[in-house]
Amino acid sequence: MEPIKITVWNEFLSEKSPKIAKVYPEGIHGAIRQIFAGNEHYQVRTATLEDPECGLSQELLDQTDVLVWWAHCAHDKIPDEIAKRVQLRVLDGMGFIVLHSAHLCKPFVRLMGTVCRSKWRENDELERIWVIEPGHPIARGLPEYIELPQEETYGERFEVPAPDNLVFISWFSGGEVFRSGCCYYRGLGKIFYFRPGHEEYPTFYREDISQLLKNAVEWAKPSGGPHPTLGHYEALEPVKDKFEGRSDRERKHLDLPGSGGKEQNK
Ligand code: ZN
Repeated sequence: MEPIKITVWNEFLSEKSPKIAKVYPEGIHGAIRQIFAGNEHYQVRTATLEDPECGLSQELLDQTDVLVWWAHCAHDKIPDEIAKRVQLRVLDGMGFIVLHSAHLCKPFVRLMGTVCRSKWRENDELERIWVIEPGHPIARGLPEYIELPQEETYGERFEVPAPDNLVFISWFSGGEVFRSGCCYYRGLGKIFYFRPGHEEYPTFYREDISQLLKNAVEWAKPSGGPHPTLGHYEALEPVKDKFEGRSDRERKHLDLPGSGGKEQNK
């Protein structure tokens, strides 16, 4: 079986502070990479904001089955054109796993169509993540709940569309709840948002979180469905052609004032 090609993308800024570098000396991307490294089932590489084209060239995206994204404070450093490139690649079938504060990254916000804000508080509180869809592939092999002794607190309302599948809900010792494991289908692509993973805590070294992320990659990998035809399309059935004998430009409304002379919806 072909290995799943995973790219772990990290803005890689928080780890420049000594306090965070102590927790993640190889960067958060380095820790996530370790979850998949040395296993022939995966082919994993990392990319960061400081790489050319922010580490998100078309070539790299084309060779990626599942993109894992961690970011916190530099969402605006991704040019819109690169965010759109990621969005289109997801619509074309690339899986997209969005971690923690990456809920505000441009490609995720574009794919959701909402602003994706939430409440938050850094107070070393306990997070209890409940599996609420035990039959979902991302819950495979997990206990009924996972407790992270210290995490950043997030609270509803989380301004995202209702997930297509909600697999996890978190409760925090400060009293908040949060939809912490949200699955979405967008075009041919699958998106999984997972809430934990604040940079101050060793969350990505945990066995249970590693299992969960492996499950998520397995779920999000391209499933090989048919590519839909977009744009102008001839009828499959023998219907009468309303534009018979007229020009192709007329048929496609290319001569309308302001149309730009190019076919739309492509
Ligand atoms: Zn955080």
